Amino acid sequence: MPKIGINIATGSLQQPEMIVGIDLGTTNSLVALLHPDSRTPIVLRDQNGLALVPSLVYFGEQGELLVGEEARPFLRTHPERTIFSVKRLLGKSYKDIKDHQQHYAYKILDEEQDSLVKIQMGDRFYSPVELSSYILKELKSRAEHMLKTTVSKAVITVPAYFNDAQRQATRDAGKLAGLDVLRIINEPTAASLAYGLGTDPQQQKTIAVYDLGGGTFDISLLRISNGIFEVLSTNGDTYLGGDDFDRAIVDHWLQKQPTWLTSLQENATLLASLRLAAEEVKRKLSDESSASVSIAGQSVSLNREQFNELVAPLVDRSLQCCQKALQDAGLSSKDIDEVVMVGGSTRVPLVKQQVAAFFDKPLNDTLHPDEVVALGAAVQADILAGNNKELLLLDITPLSLGIETMGGLMDVLIPRNSKIPFKVGRQYTTQKDGQGSMRISVFQGERDLVADNRKLAEFTLKGIPGMPAGFPKVEVSFLINADGILTVRAKELRSGVEQSIEVKPQYGLTDAEVERMLLESITHAGDDIKKRALTEARTEGELLLGQTEKFIAKNASLLSKEELLRTAEAMQSLQLSLTLEDKDLIQRQIEALNEISRPYAERAMDQAVSGALKGKSLQ
Ligand code: ADP
Ligand code: MG
Repeated sequence: MPKIGINIATGSLQQPEMIVGIDLGTTNSLVALLHPDSRTPIVLRDQNGLALVPSLVYFGEQGELLVGEEARPFLRTHPERTIFSVKRLLGKSYKDIKDHQQHYAYKILDEEQDSLVKIQMGDRFYSPVELSSYILKELKSRAEHMLKTTVSKAVITVPAYFNDAQRQATRDAGKLAGLDVLRIINEPTAASLAYGLGTDPQQQKTIAVYDLGGGTFDISLLRISNGIFEVLSTNGDTYLGGDDFDRAIVDHWLQKQPTWLTSLQENATLLASLRLAAEEVKRKLSDESSASVSIAGQSVSLNREQFNELVAPLVDRSLQCCQKALQDAGLSSKDIDEVVMVGGSTRVPLVKQQVAAFFDKPLNDTLHPDEVVALGAAVQADILAGNNKELLLLDITPLSLGIETMGGLMDVLIPRNSKIPFKVGRQYTTQKDGQGSMRISVFQGERDLVADNRKLAEFTLKGIPGMPAGFPKVEVSFLINADGILTVRAKELRSGVEQSIEVKPQYGLTDAEVERMLLESITHAGDDIKKRALTEARTEGELLLGQTEKFIAKNASLLSKEELLRTAEAMQSLQLSLTLEDKDLIQRQIEALNEISRPYAERAMDQAVSGALKGKSLQ
């Protein structure tokens, strides 16, 4: 039982600090917590009973800032000053989103392609992290208002496909809002938790979480066993959601009312009014068989059949994603034990019907679909508060992580789809005598050459004491914590010199990019193997040349003139072969040089041994 005390000085209630769960959504955000008495999760509502806070920020001309419901009217009247869908921009660079710029009515800065995007408002620039923090602040103060106590700890949810940069950005937004973000968890995991799936440690289940929100669609396949959640695969469409349903209705009306089409040019707000009316009709059609609204003095109506026809292709697209997710996980719809419905748009009867038919199963849809993620986040918050020790959450890495080795090769330390948290170490060594530093470059991607992957970070391990090449033992370890944030550490084991870095990439990858990189790694697999073999042969050749050169400089006296000449020739041929793209040729030249040098290398070895023995008295 939680204790509640009274602060005698102020007369206010003192409660143990609550950890809240927050769904920071593209369209709507909300906050929930575990009711201390009933031990069930509840969402926090405002005075009007509204749980959802529209993810909107309005910047007034006089510098006023409105968030949520209060900002909504300005979406119509001042679209250029009202920020929506900021979640799409979290952890993104301009390059990542430039093809979708038309989706945003506000100004996104494009100065430096590679840096994180900023949004210009008057003469100020805002980062998506800052803007998200305004929404989080609003949720925080709602919770504080209700609980009459400060709230400073939270669990925030993100889509399962969010990468490192996007998770980090979400965490930063929380920090800016004055929240200590105890954990970032995946939305589908949260939704499953809300339905109590996985709360029984004996349970073993495969779950499909179908999440159709305002602007995005995600399908995630999870496996729960022994209280551990594992993401088997994710798929989706970052530009498919309820907004597209609204648009389909508007297009239908415009076709039927050509006069509106012409007045669209003069009347900038007409389109916004049409969209709002369309959304209203859409919502009504979730419960009724027909609905009508009045727009610009005219009454328009739509019935369920018409609506179903309009959105059927969109629902179909979502099912194609489900098919791909099943394929990726190597599963068929028969293997799915539970289907969890998430997102306001799953209220549409056609969506429910089609999804149930696709998986051939009844749905988990008894909770409000736009609240389940926050409810599950509250369950997780409760686990973190120490009230439920049975559960552990596991995620996977979307792309492989590794470092660059000799010849620009990618050495994978954490393979794609590894469960996190994850820790791995591997030893490396120096190439040159007396090499005092070593550069560690961290890459993400599936290709064999780092040049084809994405660089996440780089640092230099300095202060390695002078040792012959190959002597130092540098252990590079990768650690991904439960939030998916990577720390890379390098340590020279003989001297104890150490260096580490938390990898906060400049910006993240879009899921389209993740997909592209995976695809490329498949289509280029043949190429890569060839390139890799060539690079390896070249590296080996260079090493051998270096060693031979060093050997001759030291031991020339042991070699006959003829041997020297033959060696020089073989070295030259090898040198030449390195400039050609023929790995077999390089290998032949390596063997030839080895063949020539082997006898005198052995001779030198004997000399060294007998030299060493000379100094000692053997008895
Ligand atoms: P997000 O996860 O993107 O933040 P939500 O899960 O809150 O968004 O879903 C918002 C979408 O749900 C909007 O497109 C909204 O129109 C739609 N929606 C909400 N209620 C209904 C309803 N009763 N019928 C159909 N669509 C609905
Ligand atoms: Mg959502």
